[in-house]
Amino acid sequence: MSSYVSVLDLFSVGLGPSSSHTVGPMRAATAFVTALADRGELARVSGVRVVLCGSLGATGVGHGTPDAVVAGLVGLDPETCDPDLVPGRWEKLGDGVRLPLLGWHEVVVAQEDVRLAPLTRMPGHPNGMRFTAVAADGAVVAEGEFYSVGGGFVLTADEITAAAEAEAAQRSAEVAGDRTDAAARDGAPSPERADDVGVPFPFANAAELLALCEREGTSVARLAWANEVALRPSADVEAGVDRIWDTMSACVDAGLEREGVLPGRLQVRRRARAQRERLEALERDPSSAADLSIEWLQAFAMAVNEENADGRRVVTAPTNGAAGIIPAVGRHFLRTHPDVAEDGERRRRAMRTYLLTAAAIGALYKRNASISGAEAGCQGEVGSACSMAAGALCAVVGGTPAQVENAAEIAMEHNLGLTCDPVGGLVQVPCIERNAIAACTAVSAARLALQGDGSHVVSLDTVIETMRQTGADMSSKYKETSTGGLAVNVIEC
Ligand code: SF4
Repeated sequence: MSSYVSVLDLFSVGLGPSSSHTVGPMRAATAFVTALADRGELARVSGVRVVLCGSLGATGVGHGTPDAVVAGLVGLDPETCDPDLVPGRWEKLGDGVRLPLLGWHEVVVAQEDVRLAPLTRMPGHPNGMRFTAVAADGAVVAEGEFYSVGGGFVLTADEITAAAEAEAAQRSAEVAGDRTDAAARDGAPSPERADDVGVPFPFANAAELLALCEREGTSVARLAWANEVALRPSADVEAGVDRIWDTMSACVDAGLEREGVLPGRLQVRRRARAQRERLEALERDPSSAADLSIEWLQAFAMAVNEENADGRRVVTAPTNGAAGIIPAVGRHFLRTHPDVAEDGERRRRAMRTYLLTAAAIGALYKRNASISGAEAGCQGEVGSACSMAAGALCAVVGGTPAQVENAAEIAMEHNLGLTCDPVGGLVQVPCIERNAIAACTAVSAARLALQGDGSHVVSLDTVIETMRQTGADMSSKYKETSTGGLAVNVIEC
């Protein structure tokens, strides 16, 4: 099976505040009970117990994980459900209420049946969950282990073991490939890569992606397009990508409109709407000739992350915590290119190029490092999103593949070491402002890359590997556990 990461998987419509701690657990809960139903076992179930381990237990309440699990058990879909139906579900369980699994099989579930275990690390990933379904006599009907590996992606225990084995096999194949490439130069044939199935242009790293672009004389986006249409009809790809952009853009607009205080004990006030009103007033002032493009860029990013913190509809890009950067940079491009923005067909084509390029870069991070804050710290979330946005912006303004790679590299290079330390376990401080700053970094990185010819010292592959190693070395205090950094130094009133 191909390990190709599709644009439609990397960008998925979900709910805030966290792709790994809200969307993933919600999907896992639904998957567990759906499997029971598919095996005809659901009717025997009279109770469900869930243990949220590691990072899910550490920041679970602030990230809405217990609520998301309960919503998933009743079958709510993060992509389509009313966002107002999720918050508060766990607390309402109290000492036990009747809960309709998948909406039709009632069991009694209490608050204590969804347990947080921050000190328990399951073997496959820091974001592990255990589900147990029990019968009326207390017998175990079924057990399931799931991992939320970032960006809303969920793997079962078997899948994560298989993925680890495939990764190990891939790495040794690449080592062997390096040796065989040397042999091929001496006349021996080169072996096919293990994942050369399903798409015409598979790439395992940025060097391969660039080599393919060069060989085919095409762009990153066109190459990614050819891969996507090998997996599904072109009309579905177009509709899916357009829908992703429309949802991102609608999220920006909603965040620029809504006001009030975000959920949680920090009592963080939304700022994006006031920012928009201030900027609009400045634009109406004929005596002001200030360039407000950076202020608008920051407002776009904060608008999305305020929506995310409020548990509203967002697109994981590539995660929820980092969801503001790619929409903000995309809106920045349209705002600064009104000729494109005002022409429906040109706008659609530009945003397809933008998202396909971003997804191709994001796939490199997902495959060769991590997009999970629990695994790599914030460099895996905000750093990856910043890199994706930088490369994508570079592409959409006409950059060459080498310049795109350079932009993506610059953006990550200056996010290396970025820790995850959300205050109060909420995806608010530093996350909301951090997206605004990273959006600015992405634009700067694209501009810097466009001034050169694409040649540079540190390759994107090197910086991705450096990010992976830095994440592996990083103390768990800085990996979505809220036990270090700002999370312990900010006094909560
Ligand atoms: S600090 Fe970064 S990785 Fe951590 S929750 Fe916030 S955005 Fe996500």
